[in-house]
Parts: sequence; structure tokens; C-alpha cells
Amino acid sequence: MTKKFVGYQCSLCGKQYGPEEVTYVCPDDGGNLNVVLDYEGIKKNCSIEDITSSRDTSIWRYLPLLPVDDPGCEGTPLRAAGWTPTYAPPAMRKELGMKQLWVKDEGRQATASFKDRASAVVVARAREIGAEVVVTASTGNAGAALAGMSAAVGQKDVIFAPKSAPPAKIAQLLVFGAQVMLVDGTYDNAFDLTIEASEAFGWYCRNTGYNPFTAEGKKTAAFEIWEQVLLVEELDKPLCVFVSVGDGNIISGIHKGFKDLKELGWLKQMPRIFGIQSEGSAAIANAYLAGTEEIEAVSATTLADSISVDLPRDGVRAVRAATETNGAYILVTDDEIIKGIAALGKVGIFAEPAGSTSYAGLVKALETGQITGDDPVLLMNTGSGLKDVKSAMKSVEEAPIIKPSMEALQAYLDK
Ligand SMILES: *Cc1c(COP(=O)(O)O)cnc(C)c1O
Ligand SMILES: [Zn+2]
Repeated sequence: MTKKFVGYQCSLCGKQYGPEEVTYVCPDDGGNLNVVLDYEGIKKNCSIEDITSSRDTSIWRYLPLLPVDDPGCEGTPLRAAGWTPTYAPPAMRKELGMKQLWVKDEGRQATASFKDRASAVVVARAREIGAEVVVTASTGNAGAALAGMSAAVGQKDVIFAPKSAPPAKIAQLLVFGAQVMLVDGTYDNAFDLTIEASEAFGWYCRNTGYNPFTAEGKKTAAFEIWEQVLLVEELDKPLCVFVSVGDGNIISGIHKGFKDLKELGWLKQMPRIFGIQSEGSAAIANAYLAGTEEIEAVSATTLADSISVDLPRDGVRAVRAATETNGAYILVTDDEIIKGIAALGKVGIFAEPAGSTSYAGLVKALETGQITGDDPVLLMNTGSGLKDVKSAMKSVEEAPIIKPSMEALQAYLDK
């Protein structure tokens, strides 16, 4: 067992558990567990320079800050998760009147979404504990990431997804060779079934907002923002990180990453974290705006399938990510999300709806004055547009079909 990993602390009651004592959530109240690390020990063994001089261009450059041992698996996609590009698109800065704006493109992950970060770490953990089968419920991307990372290292996996998931995501599951069950119901139905199945069959459950290791994988995005922006740019004001929110585990993971850096004394200024939700799936934003941590289920209806969630499983920590960093929650419409796909596309970034949601949130924040052109902002594009081509086509005009002749071309151009 890794020594830097000392145990868990419940996010609700604060009770601490040893690494072997629990596996998923707090046995007392079902609260999400925060992984506790030995920060003093890490500081003794590792410096900022050790990290920044690493030649490993993946999440594994942060191994000293992760609660797993080196997974080996060199030469596989599991070793390639993370270290996505962070762009500073000049045309988008100009268009929005912003001095400092970055877009971190998670569409560039091996399975084309942010979820690779979590699945790589969970699969590493599964191998450490000798799990025979890993299972997850997914709106599509978490499953695709688990299936891809499992295929990479020969780990058996089972995926439950709603039958309404976009075809590209289902294709990924099948091509990666997972055992796939499409559930005639919602993501939330799939979630509950997965937990029952994992208890009945002894499968190791990756479910988002249930398995504490997913947030540990997701926190690596914060480490990369720190290395790619905070350590190299002059910022007068705190960086504002905009990220879309469904279950609330990405935003919680990013918050955890910044908190880890703060604990180590490696972070000058805590970024402000902004969660963006669709009006049609707004359970966490509703709680934030009502000034409470009580999450009430909604009946989710948004075309951004990756953030379509009735009852978010990481809602409390997700609310805190905004309240504890002077961030906020922002609501956008599906229409604004679709417009965001076109806006990101214009600077060469192809986003699925849940990815362009962060852009829509920034436009709204600029309109309402929550953010000004002087605030440095980083948008997370959480997934590739290739994941959901149908929604992508909604953001643009259809192309004309012409006869293959110069006359036809000329006639079309003269129109
Ligand atoms: C999963 C996902 C999200 C939301 O993450 P949560 O942890 O559920 O809040 C956002 N965008 C994409 C593309 C995703 O796959
Ligand atoms: Zn508890």
C-alpha cells in the first residue's frame, strides 16, 4: 500500500477512515469521501521542480501526489491519459474582449473526454487491489474511458449506459470490448443498478461521485492548469476556471487538485471555480443559488447528455468548489450551449455540448458582469465534438449539395 495515501475523510461528517476501512462512501451518512494524503511526507520527497522537470507528458507526472503506486503499463493508452493542450485563442479573446483567456481541450484525451483522467487512476487502483471486474454506470464518456483504459491493460469491465446515449459513445464501449448493457431508463437508473450489481457480484465500482478515486484522477486537470498557466503567466487577478457540471465530480476533483497544491505550499492564489449547468439539469446550481448544500433531484432534460443528471452524486462538494473559492454557478440554455459549439469551432476546437457549456457560461458571466474582460479565465472543453455529431450539426447551417460541374458551382456562388 502506498504510504503517501493515508486514508479518507467524509465530506459530510468529517469522520476519518484508514485506507482499508472503507471502499466507496461514508458508511454512516453516505457522504463522499475525500482521499487524505501525507502532505508533509510528499513535501519531503518531492519539490515543484521534480514535477515541472518531469519528461512524462501524462497524468503520471503527478504520481507523487496520487494515491496509487506506479501502475507500470508503459506503452499503453493508460500511460497517455492527461497533459492535454491549453490554448490561448487570440480571435476568441478579441471577440469576447478578454485580455487573458485559455481553453483546455480534453477532447484530446485517448478516448476523447475528461473522463480518461478518472478511469486511468481507477484502473490503476483496481489492479492494486486485484479487482477481477470493474463496473460503471455512465452517460457515455465515463464508460468509454473505463472501457478504453481497461482494454489498454487487459482489465475486465462492465458498462451500464442509458440506451439514449449518443451512438459514438456506445460504439466506443463496444469497440473497446467492454461488456455493455444499455439500460431502458435514465443515467440515474443505470447508476442505482450498477451499485446493486457491484454488491451482488463483488465487482469493483467506478461510479462517479461514489468511488473516491475518480476525483483523484480528475484533480490532475488542476495540476496541469497550475503548470500550464499559473506557473508561467503573469496574472493580476485570480484565475477563473469555468467547467460544466453534471454529477459534480469534475468540479470537485479540480477543487481537490488546487487544495492539494495549497496544502503543499505550491499554489500562490486559489483560482475561482465556476460551475456551469444547463437550465434543464440544474440540481447543483439550484442548491448553490438557494444558499444551501441540500441537493434536490430534478427531472433532467438537456441535450448536453454528459451533464444530464437527475440526482447529482457529488453535489455537496460541487457546491463547495464554488462557495469556498469565491466562484459561482451559472445557468445556460441548450440554445446557448449549441451556439457555444459554433464559437469554439471557429477557433479550431471541436466540443460536444457539455464541453461548449463552459463557453456559454462565460458569455453569460460577461453579460451579467460577474466577469469582466480583465479577469483571467480558463474554459474547460470537457469532451470532443466527435462524440455527438448530431448536436454539432445543430450549431451550423447544412452544406449545399451541388452537381459536380463548374456551371453548378458558379450558379450556386452567384445566388
Ligand atoms: C462527465 C462529463 C461532464 C460532467 O462531469 P461531472 O463530474 O458529472 O460533473 C462534463 N462534460 C463531459 C464531456 C463529461 O463527460
Ligand atoms: Zn460521514
